[in-house]
Amino acid sequence: MKEKISAVVMPAPGRPLEMRRFEAPKAKPGGAVLETIASEVCGTDVHLHHGRLSGVPFPIIPGHVNCGRVVETGGPVADAEGRPILPGAVVTFFDVFGTCGLCWHCLVAKSATRCPRRKVYGITTSADEGLLGGWSESIEILPGVQMLPLPQGIEPEDFMGGGCGLPTGFHAVERAGVALGDTVVVQGSGPVGLNAAIFAQLSGALAVYVVGAPRARLDAARTLGAADTLDISAVVDPTERVGWVRDRTGGRGADVVIEASGNPAALPEGLEMLRDAGRYVVVGQYTDAGDVLINPHRHINRRHATILGCWGYEFTHLYRALQLMARHNGRFRWRELITREYSLADAGRALEDMEKLSVVKAVLRPR
Ligand SMILES: [Zn+2]
Ligand SMILES: [Zn+2]
Repeated sequence: MKEKISAVVMPAPGRPLEMRRFEAPKAKPGGAVLETIASEVCGTDVHLHHGRLSGVPFPIIPGHVNCGRVVETGGPVADAEGRPILPGAVVTFFDVFGTCGLCWHCLVAKSATRCPRRKVYGITTSADEGLLGGWSESIEILPGVQMLPLPQGIEPEDFMGGGCGLPTGFHAVERAGVALGDTVVVQGSGPVGLNAAIFAQLSGALAVYVVGAPRARLDAARTLGAADTLDISAVVDPTERVGWVRDRTGGRGADVVIEASGNPAALPEGLEMLRDAGRYVVVGQYTDAGDVLINPHRHINRRHATILGCWGYEFTHLYRALQLMARHNGRFRWRELITREYSLADAGRALEDMEKLSVVKAVLRPR
């Protein structure tokens, strides 16, 4: 293995990315070292660079969803099914670690994604702590971090085409309780929205409609099976957009609406798209983008609406989403969501492209 490892560091919000050299990591007992095959550049990284997330210990090495080849392990390590993970295995890993299982949130509320000790690779890990982000030639897998070997037939490109949108979209659909025959509207056509559209179909939705922009992402939504799409840059009046949904749902509105847009204004609009006694899941408001006016009578009480938030994902979502990918990759061809691949040196350009939405999925190839 190389003596020195190159990695991209985000030194602070708004500052240019830097290429830095680090000592090659050694596997700790129960941990491992990966040679990075691919790392994602996603909306979270854009938010990080703008300083829109609190509690980020800059400088950081971004890249929270990754694929790598195991170079060495610190003694025997196994996956969640007890199968040994050996050098040479191609794996991804659950980017969340440190969830304690001991605190009030973990034990009483059983809401592990709100555990205060929870940490996330590439987001809440400092570059001073080690190679804990994927925009690097190597990644250190700390003891207790769950690695998942890619299933038979799934290559790193397939998995990275899903990226963090895969378990996030899965979680949102699980939260919505999409039932056989439901009509589902997804607001937002980014990776989370597209994956939610996929998993809603796998849950037995009768039809999935995607409301978003730009055109390339809506084209992707239709390729992935959306019954129809609405381009919000062409239809700018929210009332007209609500009418578009009502036209397709017998005038009643959708059984389920999943908000994956990141725009607070999507909420009152999405609630107008929802049928009486429907279910609304908010998964797109990952950063605080501001307040919005809701009419409690019309939007919630009289509508008899169920409104649910959805924060992060747990290991179960990543695991089950990956198994479903292995089963349905021929139909959904996740890898085609990757618009462009970049070298480590081009990470800055990847961030810009992501921010302009000129790519659906951007992937870094560190080696
Ligand atoms: Zn906890
Ligand atoms: Zn991500």
